[in-house]
Amino acid sequence: MITRREFLAASSASLVVAATASGAQPVPNRPWYGTMRRCGQLNLNERDPLTLDVASWIDYWASLKLDALLLNGGGIVAFYPTEVPYHHRSEFLGSRDLFGELAAATKARGMRLVARMDCNYAYDDALKAHPEWFERNRDGSPRPHGESPWLFKTCMFSPYFTDQMAAIYREIGVRYPVDGFFTNVWPSTGDLTVCHCESCQRVYRETVGATPPDRVDATNGYYRKYYEAYMDRVLDVWRRWQTVVTEKRPDSVYVGNLGGGIRTVKNVKRLAEVARWFNADHQGRSGDTAIWDCAQQGRVAQAVMDGRPITNVTGAYSNSRPTWRHVSKPPAETIMWLAQTTASGMVPWFHWLGGAPEDTRWKAVGRDFFTWLAANEPHFRNRRSIADVAVLYPQRTIAFYRSGTQPRDWRGAERAQTADYLQGLYYALLEGRILFDFVHEDNLRPETLGRYRALLIPNAAYLSDDRCQRIREYVAGGGSLLATFETSRYNEWGDDRPDFELGDVFDATAGDVAAPAGNSYMRIDSRHPTLAGFEETALLPGPEQRVAVRARGGDPAASAPLTVVPYYPAFPPEMVFPRTPRTDQPAALFRQNGRSRVAYFSGDIDRTFWRSGNPDLGQLIQNTVRWLLGEDRAPVTLDGDGVVETFAWETEPGYALHILNYTNPNMTRGFVRKFYAIGPQKAEFRVARGRRIASVAALRAGRAVPFTQDGDVVRFEVPAVTDYEVVALT
Ligand SMILES: [Zn+2]
Repeated sequence: MITRREFLAASSASLVVAATASGAQPVPNRPWYGTMRRCGQLNLNERDPLTLDVASWIDYWASLKLDALLLNGGGIVAFYPTEVPYHHRSEFLGSRDLFGELAAATKARGMRLVARMDCNYAYDDALKAHPEWFERNRDGSPRPHGESPWLFKTCMFSPYFTDQMAAIYREIGVRYPVDGFFTNVWPSTGDLTVCHCESCQRVYRETVGATPPDRVDATNGYYRKYYEAYMDRVLDVWRRWQTVVTEKRPDSVYVGNLGGGIRTVKNVKRLAEVARWFNADHQGRSGDTAIWDCAQQGRVAQAVMDGRPITNVTGAYSNSRPTWRHVSKPPAETIMWLAQTTASGMVPWFHWLGGAPEDTRWKAVGRDFFTWLAANEPHFRNRRSIADVAVLYPQRTIAFYRSGTQPRDWRGAERAQTADYLQGLYYALLEGRILFDFVHEDNLRPETLGRYRALLIPNAAYLSDDRCQRIREYVAGGGSLLATFETSRYNEWGDDRPDFELGDVFDATAGDVAAPAGNSYMRIDSRHPTLAGFEETALLPGPEQRVAVRARGGDPAASAPLTVVPYYPAFPPEMVFPRTPRTDQPAALFRQNGRSRVAYFSGDIDRTFWRSGNPDLGQLIQNTVRWLLGEDRAPVTLDGDGVVETFAWETEPGYALHILNYTNPNMTRGFVRKFYAIGPQKAEFRVARGRRIASVAALRAGRAVPFTQDGDVVRFEVPAVTDYEVVALT
């Protein structure tokens, strides 16, 4: 096996194509950040003004052909001689204006400059002068930082955000040639905080009605009101800051910090309503997080941004658990993160902490990837995804769900599992090499859903009446649907419904949820196309959780080829025999009405697939998706060995097929140390009717790919994929 570095060294001559100039080119009606393709960030520490070598740093970032560079302005620490009271100047600043030096050098190299700010903490002199700026515990005490206790947490509802931060933005905007402002950490897509400062008490009194619970609890009416008030405040602050930063420069932008991958509590659709630029602070993975975590982040952001710019931060440092801020991540892991960023249509933002690194291994990794990107830039200018399968991003279920089988005192760890349904479906789609996009549950407009042949719903248990109606109309209009487990069983806040709101679509009536149990089965009672490959078994592994359902019988053509075999003991072996080998309770219901096909699984086959790894469940999901699509030819098929994730885009010059090679012993536990190249991948790519393709090129390998075209189908074979391949059709 060869590493990416060796691979590059061996083939670098063939990789070099005419490099484009750096600096996002202005396009009419699009702001400068609407066309950027490469961002970088040097995150300064308070001591850096003593030693920072501005020229060598700007040389490095310019060598990455950046469109935009993020550098520390102020907030916690000002890196310039600020006059704003209680805005703490770096104690090592001396007579230097470090931000000013960096700003001038950045602009001299034709890069856009975004001031990186931090609105989340301030020093105790501010605490004494403006006690109303800070978060408070119930006993009135301020909240010091866990590792740097001389800093205190500021409150989003306080004038610190509206007045003090605005004053700092104005000062920087007047003094320096900045093109935008970015805030570290805030607002994030994570949990809400509950604070007891004066401002917050007023909100609780006037808007919420009482102090809200201090963790996610959508069963609590005060939490529900607080959630809305919190989101309103985030959007209000965001809009105010956008107004402030454009006072002097109409094309300036405020960029908040989002991210969270598929695990979001704050509604990303609402955040996207104010975000002109979505930055995902999704810098890497730790523990047993799967490698595709970054591509998932891209899909979530794409589902809410409708083609507007999205960046994703890649930490060049080792942001594992534990974290090491000052040593590099292995190059292969960094490359896979950057590759997922660009494959999913995001813009990479390469990030290092500290101006005096003693580990510089990361530098070449970023430079190699970014210069390759710059050399092939037009092929990364996407117009739209050409996937014809949509996966519903179940925002409220992920944020709030607790199923009937979860303990009432659930906490973060249990909540993290609300994404396991989506994760299982995702993994099945990867293994099945099925091309798909996410659609957000708040974006089910006919013009969005109408682009897709099928909608897949991984246990969207909490769905509003309106969302259900849109899904019903989509199916009535000929769309196909897969849904699992408790989908539509509760309203958007988790209040019980007497039955599935989508029961008419599933042709199912809901009963109780069975407690989680292993050693239950699905019996194959009759043959169906979704059961292909299971001819030699009468039993399939059963889902761990299921709703007891009855077929409504509203559709005489509906079929239930899988029935439930309930749990029986798995130990000791003498006791392992079915007590009720046959039931008439459906484990799945399939119906067909013209082009529209509907598959409903009463169990959590998606989540159980993820937890157990049993491939029968993945196969069942893949078979079902293929059945949903009927005779329609997929926009892209890719046959070959290996676990890959694919994205296919219509681009400005033509089309691009992105293939990420996840085939790696470190696929589900980081870090990737080296790549294991996969062999030939045979592709069929459907292009627009009448479109003649003149050339197919593998951009990572740097070579032309032989192809044939038959009508709208272009066929070609990619000989190998080491880490990532982008096949450009023009
Ligand atoms: Zn507060």
